[in-house]
Amino acid sequence: MHSLIELEYQYGAHNYEPLPVILTRGEGVYVWDDEGKRYLDMMSAYSAVSHGHCHPDIVKALTQQASKLAIVSRAFYTDKLGQFLEKICEMTGLEKALPMNTGAEAVETALKAARKWAYTVKGVSQDKAEIIACEGNFHGRTIAIVGMSSEAQYRSGFGPFPAGFKIIPYGDAAALERAITPNTAAFLVEPIQGEGGIIIPPAGYLKQCAEICRKNRVLFICDEIQTGMGRTGKFLACEHEGVKPDGVILGKALGGGLLPVSAFVCREEVMNVFTPGDHGSTFGGNPLAAVVGMAAFNVLTKEKLVAKSAELGEYLLKRLQKIDSKLIKDVRGKGLFVGVEIDPRFYSAREICLRLLKEGILSKETHHTVIRLAPPLVITKQQLDTVVDTLAQVLKIAEKEVA
Ligand SMILES: *Cc1c(COP(=O)(O)O)cnc(C)c1O
Repeated sequence: MHSLIELEYQYGAHNYEPLPVILTRGEGVYVWDDEGKRYLDMMSAYSAVSHGHCHPDIVKALTQQASKLAIVSRAFYTDKLGQFLEKICEMTGLEKALPMNTGAEAVETALKAARKWAYTVKGVSQDKAEIIACEGNFHGRTIAIVGMSSEAQYRSGFGPFPAGFKIIPYGDAAALERAITPNTAAFLVEPIQGEGGIIIPPAGYLKQCAEICRKNRVLFICDEIQTGMGRTGKFLACEHEGVKPDGVILGKALGGGLLPVSAFVCREEVMNVFTPGDHGSTFGGNPLAAVVGMAAFNVLTKEKLVAKSAELGEYLLKRLQKIDSKLIKDVRGKGLFVGVEIDPRFYSAREICLRLLKEGILSKETHHTVIRLAPPLVITKQQLDTVVDTLAQVLKIAEKEVA
């Protein structure tokens, strides 16, 4: 084993199982390993690097601000936070934003806001508020969040979990209607389940859910941490159905591929439940993060990355669907958010990812059977051609081996 891998293994917790490559440098869609070999990054850090590695405009914003003022905590105002919050609201069409750092923190923020809204606005009696989430969800790794998970491994050994969560099947609007009670505060949903395996719900699902929530005075909250910021070919994935949620959670690409930056964004009526001291974060909304977040939005607009994601995503999907291989069970996606499902009778998705790695393409399996193809949105058509050709070749060889 390589000594650097050994070092991580010896001194680190074994809570990940990385592919055997040691990355040292990144630029745009490419990363390089310790031996100088170049890889095309089709994973982009679970969509956190949608702008490409080390985007020069965002690096510039970061370094300029880093040498001026980086962290002050929220005990004081800064000249940057207000502008950043205004920009988030403008982009999402919502009224107020609360900045955090990681995705899980922003999800926790949404859960707290929803519960307090239920008690103080909707009139649910104390400690009775319920939040509905979906089977197969991924919203992060805190105790409360894994308490909502239907994935046994995410929960196993970490209980007891907070009460007040209900799980319903994903993609089933009637199940939502049945699950709602007078105590329901919110329905939390991913417009497309990312970690769940790039699962796209039936057309009209989000629209129906939004309508059911509106009718029952339940907050409709979309976790767009992975699907937002243009990943699926719209700025927010819920825009595909013209849906306007009561709350939206952003993270990952909001940090421009440089910092952890997240936010819970919602209607004024919901955010107004917070009063000074109710909730906070030492680092959330720091001027460095605010400047990087604004740069992330600016690059998205300037380079038309949302439209690019839509156009190139369609192209990628069409080309992938033309690959004739019995190893492929399904190809699905929206924008540059695509899953290739491998038939587990022949290979695990990880085995195919390992073979792609050898050919200079980085990807990561999700849910054992799905190869995630979610490159930086700055990728070109030619680079996508390389990926599809390489994948087709890898599958052809792999198929012969099991013939
Ligand atoms: C990644 C992710 C999260 C958690 O974000 P972290 O920054 O890892 O805490 C939450 N929800 C969704 C949909 C995600 O993809």
